[in-house]
Amino acid sequence: MFLLNLIISINQVAAGELKSNWRWITEPSIEICPDSSITVNDVVDYLSYWQKRNVYVDITSISEVEYCDLTKLNVIQLSDHRDFDRSRYHAMTNVKWYYHGEKNKDTTYLIKRVHVQIPDSLIYEDAVILHEIGHALGLGHSNDSIMQPTH
Ligand SMILES: [Zn+2]
Repeated sequence: MFLLNLIISINQVAAGELKSNWRWITEPSIEICPDSSITVNDVVDYLSYWQKRNVYVDITSISEVEYCDLTKLNVIQLSDHRDFDRSRYHAMTNVKWYYHGEKNKDTTYLIKRVHVQIPDSLIYEDAVILHEIGHALGLGHSNDSIMQPTH
């Protein structure tokens, strides 16, 4: 097992059909948990898809960890299926967020941490995985082909 650090920095989300629901204010690291079959190269490929869609992500390094501390902040953790209803969903992304002041249409939701569960059986389902990674980067559901709510 090797250790690298992946730091991403999301500067701006493109307008158009993509919708930004949440925002990282710190640069999160990405951790691939030991129960996930996703590789470092896969993650680089998924991120580069979103980079081409003008979701700006700067990658400096990547992390495959021996243990995922689910209480850790400023991290996107990728794991195999753990605790959602597989008869209803293909995959699951939980975004923990907060906001300041009163909630209104301009409220920016700030991301604390993200847990992404992608069952190993879906490892070649790029559309599903890209959708979940999109959520992890702060994208919400929209009419976009990848970010439509059906995935
Ligand atoms: Zn979704």
